[in-house]
Amino acid sequence: MIKQIECKNALHKIKNDYLPQTYDLNIFRGCSHGCKYCYALYSHTYLDDKEYFENIYVKKDVVKVLEIELKKQKNKNDIVNLGGVTDSYQELEKTQKIMPEILKLFIKYKTPITISTKSDLILRDYDLIDELSRLTYVNIASTITIMDETKRAKIEPNAVNSKRRFEILKEFTATNASIGVHVMPIIPFLTDSYENLDEIFYLAKLSNVHYLLPSTLNLRGKTRDYFLNFLKKDFPHLSQIYLKLYQGGVLNQNYKNNLYKIVDELFKKYDISVNSSKLAEQKLKNHEPSLFDNLY
Ligand code: SF4
Repeated sequence: MIKQIECKNALHKIKNDYLPQTYDLNIFRGCSHGCKYCYALYSHTYLDDKEYFENIYVKKDVVKVLEIELKKQKNKNDIVNLGGVTDSYQELEKTQKIMPEILKLFIKYKTPITISTKSDLILRDYDLIDELSRLTYVNIASTITIMDETKRAKIEPNAVNSKRRFEILKEFTATNASIGVHVMPIIPFLTDSYENLDEIFYLAKLSNVHYLLPSTLNLRGKTRDYFLNFLKKDFPHLSQIYLKLYQGGVLNQNYKNNLYKIVDELFKKYDISVNSSKLAEQKLKNHEPSLFDNLY
């Protein structure tokens, strides 16, 4: 169901000093991609709504509110992250067409941005993103977790397949944007095989991405119950293994150490950077002082 909500603030300050982005901008609440590991499920609690994947809220007047905020913004180097708790290019955006208006504002105010998506709808706005990337820092990323299409369709049912995501990223390498693959999360016994990770690294290299960011699966709050129910239904043989692996709510340290040995080996094998902040720093270094002055 599609619902409308009032947009009181468009930009939300990110409470994490280690991230290069200063603000989050979510044009929707909820996301129809339906990823089983989605960390944003908690965000519907504030709307008193349990159906994060089904009930999508459109923020009324988000473009108007954003322009007022961008006009007042003091530090023009502050990076805006699009879609911390939703995918800006999910199905609904096909008809809403909010993103082109948002991108036109970013071009007007030369606002640096990062976008992460699992949808090829982003290609509709290619020219606007290309234009912005020639004015300031733009980062385009896609989360890619698994190359086996049968398993992927169970884990991320409404997103485009992983091969298509690599194609999208490759297209953006012709812009001035930096391009990244987020291997997030690496899911124990589903996406953590050497073969799967090796293929992702290989295709990332082939697509000329600038960096690759891996991280392991966290199981907390609403995400924990949702993911464990999914396992019970689709991969029941893993249910007991997960209860042991995530004892106390955190992923077993030995498992993590072994996994990161493989990941480190792949970084060396394919000579890919893990650092996305450096790219932003280089791009913005000629602008006013920014948070990067305190990062290194
Ligand atoms: S694309 Fe992101 S926000 Fe949307 S369901 Fe998947 S993990 Fe959640």
